[in-house]
Order: sequence, then structure tokens, then C-alpha cells
Amino acid sequence: MKEIESTECVITGETLKPNEKRQGTDIIELKTCLKCKISKPHTEFNKQKINKNGLYSYCKCCSREQYKSYFEKNKEKIRLNHRKDYEKFGDKWKITRKKYSSTNLDQIRKSSKKYRDNNREKINEKIRKRYKEISNLD
Ligand SMILES: [Zn+2]
Repeated sequence: MKEIESTECVITGETLKPNEKRQGTDIIELKTCLKCKISKPHTEFNKQKINKNGLYSYCKCCSREQYKSYFEKNKEKIRLNHRKDYEKFGDKWKITRKKYSSTNLDQIRKSSKKYRDNNREKINEKIRKRYKEISNLD
């Protein structure tokens, strides 16, 4: 059986701990990372269901690097997209709010006045109780 010479990632220089190399048995299934070209145990690969063996082609540290560089390269784009989303959502929210308040404001006002009129005693009682609670705290 071929020994694992190195499980060091050329990108990040990360090395695997000895106990990660052996998982109880001496037979470890290795997979070669497409990026750093190093054969690593399957545990060093993220799972991906659509792949034949259920693993990513890149090892964990390479995919991490890839993600990082993707993020670095597309930072502006990602930020712009977020802003666009925010603007889109924000506008929608503003419009909905405006629409809602102009058509319903009167109604809200009326119904809350009605509620207050109908429940004056209840509300007063609540306020008294709350006030008592607060003053009891001292
Ligand atoms: Zn790799």
C-alpha cells in the first residue's frame, strides 16, 4: 500500500493531524484534489451529492481558498447585488407602507379611538397596574 507522503495543502500549507490520516483502519480511501493535486482522505473533502462519489473535486482547504478568492474578485459585484436587493426591497416596502397608511390611516385612527373609548377603564386599569409595578421596583 502506498504511504501518504504529505497531506499538506499547497495553497494554505495546512497539514493534517496524524489521527486524521487514519480512521481506525489502515485502508483510507484517497481522492486527488483537482486544485492542489494532493491525494487526501475523503474526510478532507466536502460532500456534494450530485458528484459520483458524493464529494467535491476540491479539497476542503482549496474550496475555502476558492471561495475566498471568489469573494475577493467579486466583492464589488456581491455588494452591488446586495445593494440592489436592498433598494428593490426598500422601495417596495416604502410603497406598501405609503399605500397602506394613506388608505388605512383614517380607519386605524377611528378604530383605535373606538377601542380606547370602549376600553377606557381596562386601559386605565392596565396603566395603573403597570405604574404600580414600576413603583414597586424601587
Ligand atoms: Zn486541495
